[in-house]
Amino acid sequence: MQLDNHQDTSIDGLKERVLELAKRRGFLWPSYEIYGGVAGLWDYGPFGAMLKHRVESAWRDIFVVGESALPIETPTIGVEELFLASGHLSNFVDLIVECVNCHTALRADHVVTEYLKSRGIAADLCDPGIAGACVPSSEKTQQLIDSHGITCPDCGGPLGKVHDFNLMFTTHIGPGTQRKGYLRPETAQGIFADFPRLLRFHRDRLPFGVAQIGKSYRNEISPRQGVIRLREFTQAEAEVFVDPREKNHHPRFDEVANVEINILSKDFVGTASVKSACERNIIAHEYLAYFIARCQEFFIRVGVRESRLRFRQHLPDEMAHYAVDCWDAEGLTQHGWIELAGIADRTDYDLRQHERQSGLQMAVFVPYEAPKEVERIVVRPNMGYLGPKYKGKAKQVAAFLSGISNPEGAIVFDGQVVDPEGYAIETVRESISGDFVTPHVIEPSFGIDRSIYTILEHAYDEDTIDGERRVVLRLSPHIAPVEVAVFPLVKALNEKALEVFRLLRRAGLLVEYDDSGTIGRRYRRQDEIGTPFAVTIDHETIENSTVTVRDRDTTKQVRSSIESLADVLREMLVHGFDKKSF
Ligand code: ATP
Repeated sequence: MQLDNHQDTSIDGLKERVLELAKRRGFLWPSYEIYGGVAGLWDYGPFGAMLKHRVESAWRDIFVVGESALPIETPTIGVEELFLASGHLSNFVDLIVECVNCHTALRADHVVTEYLKSRGIAADLCDPGIAGACVPSSEKTQQLIDSHGITCPDCGGPLGKVHDFNLMFTTHIGPGTQRKGYLRPETAQGIFADFPRLLRFHRDRLPFGVAQIGKSYRNEISPRQGVIRLREFTQAEAEVFVDPREKNHHPRFDEVANVEINILSKDFVGTASVKSACERNIIAHEYLAYFIARCQEFFIRVGVRESRLRFRQHLPDEMAHYAVDCWDAEGLTQHGWIELAGIADRTDYDLRQHERQSGLQMAVFVPYEAPKEVERIVVRPNMGYLGPKYKGKAKQVAAFLSGISNPEGAIVFDGQVVDPEGYAIETVRESISGDFVTPHVIEPSFGIDRSIYTILEHAYDEDTIDGERRVVLRLSPHIAPVEVAVFPLVKALNEKALEVFRLLRRAGLLVEYDDSGTIGRRYRRQDEIGTPFAVTIDHETIENSTVTVRDRDTTKQVRSSIESLADVLREMLVHGFDKKSF
């Protein structure tokens, strides 16, 4: 599946080069640059926007079309009740510390880890059980600042007190201050709020998946790493609602059972198939393992290199208290291993929280294949005894007794033991047709912007062609913003080249036409934006209606007739220049 194996990982200053290329060639621009820019806000330029669109399409193909999931779109502004229920208003915090001198706000745990790392001191903020995991507490962070005398990394000034900072952006809905609103920090809560309607839409059956791609907002304290930590970013999330008793039986598990993944967990480090990871209890159940495998399929399709992708299991104290098992898909970049996606078993926590907050039932009636005969022990009130004993209260006592199922020991009403003469205990047989269950949620949650940065970094390469150094983005043809470039060799061939350009555009290919500068320069420009193929119209074209097709990665060329050109290119885009599978 790997597109290329030429990447030179020893390129000096790779992250700076990638960012410089991304800015220069219209992939990524700092937002509001003419007004000085704002940390954590980035624009996608024309090639970036097309690349992003194609990455999102690849995600949709796998997680919506491929899973028959229900796609929805909910507002980016959420109401207070939504985030009271989800816990974001009370718990969605990071550690902040301000410089007393220059007043820069800093992410306290990051300041400490970077300081310790730069001095070769093991960052004891991190749990030693598993590399890369870090669960900072404000007390520990404060202690480390004090004991190491850590100062402001910007001006060297003293740091203030470490405290919590809530990452939610607030707003008001409507004029005045009638209703508080919050920009959503994840797309998932909109899905949970729609659960009763989604369930009805899916005709009250489990399991089903719901997917949403959209913007999320987090008022990150100190976003300094390009598009890796943004204040506005795009998430692609699927919430899969499943009967908790079925979590270890994914109906399509066979399709992914042999997919091998790189694992970093407390109990296992290495490569294993998702099936064996499940059997060895490394991954909690088949549903999680299934989506971990699909997650890998997505990343490989969009060009994240398999050898630089790993699945890291959260430590128990790193996980939300309600979660059963969580995995991060991490990509290795020049910023280190970064979290690109999270795959979590959120249990029934969210639905129960919204049930509590809204007062609406979120449980699903799951019918049995056939009704079941069950025995139940019931309490039959004896009114002949209860009437004289409890008088006006007798009916109330009788109703209480009738409501008891499978009694154990003495029965107490209003703090007093009811005399055994007041009731009889009987075994009855009854037929029941199903149970009410609150679904559990398995969530694959992707950060599109971080994925795009990783794709760019993994695709970036420099090599030498005909004695000349070139920069080439070895993007997967699935997501390249331009699929084919069309060049006339000389100006006199412009008309013919434009004809070929229009032909390919009509055939639905993403084509760009370029007639400026030398042919060599034109190839370099396309190599830099990752265009897989370039078609050149030369003198032979006029004689025999053929053109050259040049491969970006090898720079090899073949001739193709104009008549079959669109088909040839389509095939190459899927199977490679030599018709090998990508
Ligand atoms: P982090 O620990 O890096 O802050 P997170 O664990 O809070 O991330 P999740 O809540 O699991 O992230 O969000 C799902 C995905 O959304 C992440 O895997 C990541 O790719 C992306 N994401 C989260 N926060 C940001 C951000 N500030 N900027 C860009 N992408 C983000």
